[in-house]
Amino acid sequence: MTDLDLPDLPPALAARPRDEKRGLPIPVVNMHDGAVDFVTINGTVALRLALGRRCSLCDEPLAGPAAFLGGPKSAESGYYSDPPMHEACAQAALMLCPHIARPHARRASERRLIEDASIPVGFTEEKPEEWVMVIASGYIVGSTPAESGGLVPLFLVPDRIRERRFGYQDGVLTETAAA
Ligand SMILES: [Zn+2]
Repeated sequence: MTDLDLPDLPPALAARPRDEKRGLPIPVVNMHDGAVDFVTINGTVALRLALGRRCSLCDEPLAGPAAFLGGPKSAESGYYSDPPMHEACAQAALMLCPHIARPHARRASERRLIEDASIPVGFTEEKPEEWVMVIASGYIVGSTPAESGGLVPLFLVPDRIRERRFGYQDGVLTETAAA
């Protein structure tokens, strides 16, 4: 994390509280009753933000299109467990998020702060080889059974404006295609 280009962060994301260890902005959706977990989203907060059309990273209104981040399977199906965000915030997450930016990081091997982590049934925690950012004018908020029981939010993108693809080249996440 030596090449943190923090001046390029969207202002609202740059103004977020920082993780003490790495100096990373803490997305609003990764706060759990005062504790921070970069791996697990807070489902209640994710729902509140998505329903209020606010960015799940910087907490500012999503006035224009919404961006979703996931692997090729999410991009194909249009179903997301992670809530919508600004495109600029999604791009910052791709470059800064410890679970995305490092080529060999595996979410499942990370220490879990929240033990009853809310992983929707059918969703894998493995990091995809390729990340797809889907940009959409709208989305549908729903819920689905969690692996640990109960319900977790699920976000459906019925139509998309465009998408951007990112892959690991020599260990660095690089934009490979935009359409
Ligand atoms: Zn944002």
